[in-house]
Amino acid sequence: MSWALNKRLSALKAYVPGEQPEPGKYIKLNTNEFPYPPSPAVAEETANSVLNMNLYSDLNCTKLKANFEKVFGFGGENVIFTNGSDEALYLCFLAFCGPDKGVAFADLTYGFYSVYADLCGLEKTVLPLDSDFKLIPEDYYNCGKTVFIANPNAPTGLKLTVEEIEGILNNNKNDVVVIDEAYVDFSDGSCAKLTEKYNNLVVVGTFSKSRGMAGARLGYIITNSDLVKDIETVKYSINPYNVNSLTQATGAAVLENDEYYKDCIAEICETRDDFTKNLKKIDFEVIPSQTNFVFAKHNEISGKDIANKLREKGILIRHFDKERIADYVRITIGTPDQMERVYIALEEIIGGK
Ligand code: PMP
Repeated sequence: MSWALNKRLSALKAYVPGEQPEPGKYIKLNTNEFPYPPSPAVAEETANSVLNMNLYSDLNCTKLKANFEKVFGFGGENVIFTNGSDEALYLCFLAFCGPDKGVAFADLTYGFYSVYADLCGLEKTVLPLDSDFKLIPEDYYNCGKTVFIANPNAPTGLKLTVEEIEGILNNNKNDVVVIDEAYVDFSDGSCAKLTEKYNNLVVVGTFSKSRGMAGARLGYIITNSDLVKDIETVKYSINPYNVNSLTQATGAAVLENDEYYKDCIAEICETRDDFTKNLKKIDFEVIPSQTNFVFAKHNEISGKDIANKLREKGILIRHFDKERIADYVRITIGTPDQMERVYIALEEIIGGK
């Protein structure tokens, strides 16, 4: 750390993003991206939007919001768009946590929660998942903190039911509960509807995983109009133009072509289920996934070795050198062809040990 860094941040450990190698170097299955290209109509809209980039972007994301409402059923005063959902989460940390309000989250979950908590100087309550990596809803009841839950969770891929989320909402009436639904489109359903019933629920989502826009950075927040106002106060105090005009145009076009994305999502889920069956054939233990990745371990080869050996074969996956999950690997679901190649590579690795 340099002499200039604010002392409060001297121990801050920054988030470590998955590697982003030059395109084409690897079969890239390490950061849960969407494996398909945009639909041609989307590419055309994005190209056209460049002609307006001399102007600041639309503060209200008008077209994007109208299209979002058609697909998601939420709009108007209930939605905010953000520069990726990482920004949405950060805005929630800034708006709903502080010296008098700490934060609660799971021990095995999205790494950014802990980083944002440290960045904001917050008191952290880290609640362990059970031995099967399931989140225990009751642990969060009346915890007196702002709650952050990834649902489905990363890196486990497991999901709480809507009833379990309701339990947490009912037992934290005076605290905000943020449900991070980054992977929800690959699951049995969103809890966004509950924002109409509970005034303490904030749902965060992203266009990175299921709508092919990881590089364009588009996230969203769905909540009631009071909490939207709180978040907007923070947003307007940092960067009112947080979603650039190219991204707004792309997002709007993606939603106009929603059928294409729904088809791709269905294919990813089918590929995931086939890949899971194949992994089990070669003695992997696989956690049932409601996401576009699988979390799995093999009893004879360590997670680290699997990741390294796959890399030698031109395939990039993710291994976390972290207590409780060091044996596991997280593999993003790509195209059927990519997953066939991963399976063949794994068979060779297991066979050769
Ligand atoms: N939440 C979870 C659980 C994630 O895994 C990710 C992806 N790294 C994000 C949020 C952030 O995604 P993005 O900023 O690309 O929307």
